[in-house]
Amino acid sequence: MSRSSSSRANRRGELPPDPEPLPAPVVDSHTHLDIAVGGFDRAPDAAEVDAQVAAAEAVGVPRLVQVGVDVPSSRWSAELAARHPNVLAAVAVHPNEAGSWVDDGGDMDTALAEIDRLAAQPRVRAVGETGLDRFRTGPEGWAAQEASFRAHIRIAKERGKALVIHDRDAHDEILRVLDDEGAPERTVFHCFSGDAAFARACVARGHVLSFAGTLTFANAGYLREAAALTPLDQLLVETDAPFLTPVPYRGRPNASRLVPHTVRTLAEVTGVDLEQLCAALTATAERVFGPWED
Ligand SMILES: [Zn+2]
Ligand SMILES: [Zn+2]
Repeated sequence: MSRSSSSRANRRGELPPDPEPLPAPVVDSHTHLDIAVGGFDRAPDAAEVDAQVAAAEAVGVPRLVQVGVDVPSSRWSAELAARHPNVLAAVAVHPNEAGSWVDDGGDMDTALAEIDRLAAQPRVRAVGETGLDRFRTGPEGWAAQEASFRAHIRIAKERGKALVIHDRDAHDEILRVLDDEGAPERTVFHCFSGDAAFARACVARGHVLSFAGTLTFANAGYLREAAALTPLDQLLVETDAPFLTPVPYRGRPNASRLVPHTVRTLAEVTGVDLEQLCAALTATAERVFGPWED
């Protein structure tokens, strides 16, 4: 998500209660603790951030990937990962930020150089979220967005990090760019939003599919079909907090401690025993992002 795109989705309301803890630990592969704690208007308070991480750990979510969406939030993400053993970081300029640079007069080269510098840090394990967003960004921003996506792919490959993709209404275009550039060895579709056919195309290429709270939505049968056919070693789960809160709390603020709702739906959909599924999700996350422990 991004500053320019998501204020509408950053709902306010009573925080949902803690779910029943999971029988084995899982990883929230994509969260925005800075936005979840501070919104878009204030710097996140470190004690509140630590409290959110502790609340997640208490229900079986001891490991998180904190994702930056612009240079300041990417810096913040890298700093948090450097100090917190439960957190790894991903750094990038979000496609909707990239798509509006032309209007903002922003300096893309300077921003990309800073993302590249941050990507070298040992606890920054992914470049993203990057990709294409044809929903929030209009055609006037598409060229800048694709140029930024290509630059992020190159940084991920040069630094040997995973790539985390944001794909909004751009499935075929994303695969076109990935195939053209050559995808990094570890490429994750965050908040996977395609159907079974697109999932098959991604799985065949070796990409990893990360499912968010959208998996639990009543109208998301196509996502459940996609999840059901994804091999366990190409499957991740995430919150994208504070967005995309799973059922039964859709519309209220999301947090990593709520990922168990999505994991339980994933267990139903895949028919895999819950404890085995948790172990598989952790193994896939460690394959993609590396170990959390130094
Ligand atoms: Zn996204
Ligand atoms: Zn996100």
